[in-house]
Amino acid sequence: MECCLRQQEKEVKMENRKLALITGGSRGIGRAVALRLAKMNMDIVFSYRGGKEAAEETVKLCEEQGVRALAVQADAASREDCDRLTEEAAKFGNGRIDVLVNNAGITRDSLILRMTDEQFDEVISTNLTGVFYMLRPVSKLMLKQKSGRIINISSVAGVMGNVGQVNYSASKAGVIGMTKALARELASRKITVNAVAPGMIETDMTAAVPEKAREELTASIPFKAMGTVEDIAGAVAFLAGEESGYITGQVLLVDGGMCI
Ligand code: NDP
Repeated sequence: MECCLRQQEKEVKMENRKLALITGGSRGIGRAVALRLAKMNMDIVFSYRGGKEAAEETVKLCEEQGVRALAVQADAASREDCDRLTEEAAKFGNGRIDVLVNNAGITRDSLILRMTDEQFDEVISTNLTGVFYMLRPVSKLMLKQKSGRIINISSVAGVMGNVGQVNYSASKAGVIGMTKALARELASRKITVNAVAPGMIETDMTAAVPEKAREELTASIPFKAMGTVEDIAGAVAFLAGEESGYITGQVLLVDGGMCI
């Protein structure tokens, strides 16, 4: 009898499970977000570009939380890949996508005089056009559902600019503009659209910054410390959760005070 009840409880839990789609979930902030949302009992679909092994590890870590997880190879800069990713996610979620986290992003740093067209275009294609490619099909689905949460990962670079990052800062400021415009467009259906702007977070991306520059940057943070991927995942979880339903069009800075 007790066993039967437990089985029923499990089935109810599965039926009510939400589906979260995260771009660039194989490592870094995206993986931490996937794990955090899995802990909130959401099924997870995430994309990656080339790191298959890391993607498989993220799937395993999510499944250990008792949810279903799927990794899809899809380049954020490709419209076809973004459409396919959205289709696969909706199929995995029985027609639903409840949460979208646009996280995939790259840097190609250089001072303006040396920045090539390719460095500029690559960053804009992945970090800005790629977000648009996800927002369009997922908004269509969420409008039909009359519900959804969208969280775009921007950056402090998009708020205050950063030396050597004209391309990256433009892409991340663009993400903020897109977030605010879409928040207005989707508000009538109570779909929320917000941005999280991380400061300096310990990941492979910041590991590439030379040690001296990292030290100087860290010294400029009021907290005098870099943030962790869990700091960002916590902010995303809040914006994806039940208690933030009346918050839209906002930029949540998670930066140890960098932008005060
Ligand atoms: P990482 O470089 O550690 O991880 C990037 C993730 O995105 C990987 O899973 C990678 O997959 C994926 N990815 C990269 N390019 C593409 C692409 N074209 N298509 C699909 N997936 C792709 O980055 P972080 O975790 O540090 O950064 C995550 C986000 O947070 C980015 O948008 C970044 O700009 C932003 N951010 C990060 C900060 C930091 O200090 N770390 C500060 C502010 C913002 P694969 O391994 O397969 O390439």
